[in-house]
Amino acid sequence: MKKRLFTPGPTPVPEEVMLRMAEPIIHHRNPEFMDILSGVHNDLKYLFQTAQPVVVLSASGTGGMEAAVSSCFQRGDKLITVNGGKFGARWTSLARIFTGNCIEEMVPWGEAVTPERILELLKAHPDTKGVCLTHSETSTGTASDIQTLCSLIREHSDALILIDGITAIGAHEFHFDEWGADICITGSQKGLMMPPGLALVAVSERAQQIIDALDTTQFYLSLKKALASHAGDDTPFTPAVSLIIGLSQALKMIRREGIEQIWNRHERLSAACRKGCEALGMRLFSSSPSFAVTPAWLPEGIDWEEFNASLKVNNGITIAAGQDDYKGRIFRISHLGYYDELDMLTVIGGIERALAEVGHDFTIGAGVTAVQTALID
Ligand SMILES: *Cc1c(COP(=O)(O)O)cnc(C)c1O
Repeated sequence: MKKRLFTPGPTPVPEEVMLRMAEPIIHHRNPEFMDILSGVHNDLKYLFQTAQPVVVLSASGTGGMEAAVSSCFQRGDKLITVNGGKFGARWTSLARIFTGNCIEEMVPWGEAVTPERILELLKAHPDTKGVCLTHSETSTGTASDIQTLCSLIREHSDALILIDGITAIGAHEFHFDEWGADICITGSQKGLMMPPGLALVAVSERAQQIIDALDTTQFYLSLKKALASHAGDDTPFTPAVSLIIGLSQALKMIRREGIEQIWNRHERLSAACRKGCEALGMRLFSSSPSFAVTPAWLPEGIDWEEFNASLKVNNGITIAAGQDDYKGRIFRISHLGYYDELDMLTVIGGIERALAEVGHDFTIGAGVTAVQTALID
């Protein structure tokens, strides 16, 4: 049986990327490696649509978030964080640890924060030093209107704008420079079609100046050190050499397809996935759907464990469970990264098989037909 991964991180890795990572290891101060890293630095600018540096850290995505908060701020700095799910909550945790001064805006799961609310908060807290946002909240499959939020924050405040773009980069349209972001982070195991292990962090000129001027205490996750090395296409510590070589290939694939085409593909696949779920009688969870991951409510009376076992054991398909309060109540299908139209037929077809096995009442083929109809037009 083929194993098929439909989780929003890790995501499937293309063969040409795996083959590059299987090459013999080379030394990281070798010109051959520094050439590869220089190409990666260039291609990451294309991915984030920026002329600013995007540093590569050997860490998972959270390491990028921690590097950003700990490098840009000091104790006492006031941060606004938006918590609409597990990953927004992570911004709050980091803010509390590193600055101890956090205004947390709670947003119901499945909803996006409104620009009006952010404006109110900025007016109430004119001393805000940073606003931490999540572009695509993976736990709830919800996308925020980052473009509008950025322009609003820029208009009313000097606060730095930090964006968790971990499942948005490569799925949602994003222009780091044009939209006025200061920090944006992604992780290798998400839209980049890579195994876990790298965090990529874009840093604006404004943020670079603040980082330079601050005396922070962290050692390894230091954006100041990473930026200084980046200028010479180097890294401050031994980087994850094989992952960076793999990343150079993944970024070539991204260049080949074109970033606009990639955004369009994610929008199309996510729309088809939502149609497929609805046609099987499942309600969608988010009022502002992410193009990376689709959460849907389990049908009434269907047991998650039983359904998931059927999917995984009998059909080889791994999807993601609901988290926290929604464990056992919703499930999440990823279409982030290396997926195409036929993959959406596969996952919805697999879900139909599992639903049939656990006794859900529906018309066999209804989901697949909806996916076909959405994609063939
Ligand atoms: C996966 C994810 C993270 C955490 O990344 P790790 O690589 O697990 O550290 C953070 N934010 C979002 C939105 C994510 O999807």
